[in-house]
Amino acid sequence: MARFSNMALDAARKNHAKKVSAVTIRVGQMTGLVPEYLQHYYPQTVAGTMLEGSRLVIEERPVLVRCACGNVYTPARDNGYACPKCGGASGKLISGREMDLVSVEIEE
Ligand SMILES: [Zn+2]
Repeated sequence: MARFSNMALDAARKNHAKKVSAVTIRVGQMTGLVPEYLQHYYPQTVAGTMLEGSRLVIEERPVLVRCACGNVYTPARDNGYACPKCGGASGKLISGREMDLVSVEIEE
């Protein structure tokens, strides 16, 4: 959480903001970060900064793997996280680990 608020504060400072109205972040489902918790702890994390009172918007990203066969899928425990098309297990993770700041909305 502190990581996101620091990124948002940096961005706000670079834009010479005085107050921020909304912060949008992107969080992959593999990060273990739970959006509800982030929402819950956000107000106290940003209290006393120029982010205080801003809205936190969370874009959740699903876990996606691209297989060598070209298939993109969400790994499932049922089949050992293998590719449902070819059975391959050497896919590359292309989504799900995101912890990014997407945008900071500045109050005029
Ligand atoms: Zn495959």
